[in-house]
Amino acid sequence: MKLTVDAATCVGCGLCEQGCPEIFQIQGDGIAHILAQDCSLSHNLKEIADSCPVNCIKVA
Ligand code: SF4
Repeated sequence: MKLTVDAATCVGCGLCEQGCPEIFQIQGDGIAHILAQDCSLSHNLKEIADSCPVNCIKVA
């Protein structure tokens, strides 16, 4: 599995960070960055990706 965020599309809403702060973090540039490819809490990453309002999180 490979998680990516399209930086050009992300609007920095923070939903993904709320969903899993171990993986997603809004940084100083105002967009989400991927900190890790897995979390220790077994969050449903597909669900988090689906919740992105601009659909810029890809789970491949
Ligand atoms: S949910 Fe989508 S738009 Fe919002 S911060 Fe995360 S990647 Fe960016």
